[in-house]
Amino acid sequence: MSSTAPEPEATRRPGVELSVVIPVYNEEPNLPALFDRLYPVLDGLGVPYEVIFTNDGSADRSQELLAKQHAKRPRETRVIEFNANYGQHMAIMAAFERVRGSVVVTLDADLQNPPEEIPKLLGAISAGHDCVGGYRVVRRDSAFRRYASRLVNSVRRRTTNIEMADQGCMLRAYSRPVIDAIVRSGAINTFIPALAYTFATHPAEVAVRHEERNAGASNYSFYKLVRLNFDLITAFTLAPLQWFTLIGLGCAVGSFLLVLVLAARRLIIGPEEGGVFTLFGVLFFLISVAIVGIGLIGEYVGRTYQVVRQRQRYFVSRILEASE
Ligand code: UDP
Ligand code: MG
Repeated sequence: MSSTAPEPEATRRPGVELSVVIPVYNEEPNLPALFDRLYPVLDGLGVPYEVIFTNDGSADRSQELLAKQHAKRPRETRVIEFNANYGQHMAIMAAFERVRGSVVVTLDADLQNPPEEIPKLLGAISAGHDCVGGYRVVRRDSAFRRYASRLVNSVRRRTTNIEMADQGCMLRAYSRPVIDAIVRSGAINTFIPALAYTFATHPAEVAVRHEERNAGASNYSFYKLVRLNFDLITAFTLAPLQWFTLIGLGCAVGSFLLVLVLAARRLIIGPEEGGVFTLFGVLFFLISVAIVGIGLIGEYVGRTYQVVRQRQRYFVSRILEASE
């Protein structure tokens, strides 16, 4: 079954108030501990809830464990199975397209986001906020990850008008209208916390605990991390392209001046040996012009890219859920 369109309103179960969305990619060692900690917290809330797991093409036994959990708690558990790995944010998006609750919470499957913090987020939603981001006071990740995040945070602050303390924390809560707006946006290469922020009216941030990964290693290789952060920047601003064009223009002006100086020198002092510098001057000038050209094309490609995004975003091979 393919899916790009959200479920029609009629299939939403009106009784469900809270939907918890969890992307899962090779989390076999973490799922039992997650189930043990998550369900008691949610049971304790005393509201009808559902947990939607998206299995993002796991190659381990995650699907088997999710199916078992679905058999154990069929009314509260739904499992979306992707045919391949589409990334954490697309996994969350697929669940957003199917959530039934009026409040939606996201968290990671590796227990880095303690489920016990969920009531704190819900408190902020009850207080009238429509987009509540957790920020990690003490972050339990490698030094490299912490510094890289700081760098991306500062680029994001300078190039977009998205204001948040900790964009990388996935322990977040959203009200239904924000989720509906995210689904309608049909975004592809996106970064959900930032996208949600753009639709929020009263965003808030609350401090949450962060724990070390329960087991296994991060699913983000250096390359995946770079791609994710490019998504964050390019989905929300064209500023990098504009900087690129400006730098190209600077080079063009500089090298044009160099050409003038070399030409004057040749007329006044006479030809230099071999004319190598003149040649370089001309060459630099032309290369700079080419860079301006690439920058300009980039501007257009960037804008076209923002409009065109039409292809199917993911493929759902199976859904486990109780029939109504
Ligand atoms: N994840 C996913 N698809 C991916 C990578 C990660 O669904 O391609 C899930 C993963 O199972 C976890 C969450 O996204 O629930 C965060 O991933 P991870 O812990 O590897 O990232 P980190 O905490 O290192 O940022
Ligand atoms: Mg993690």
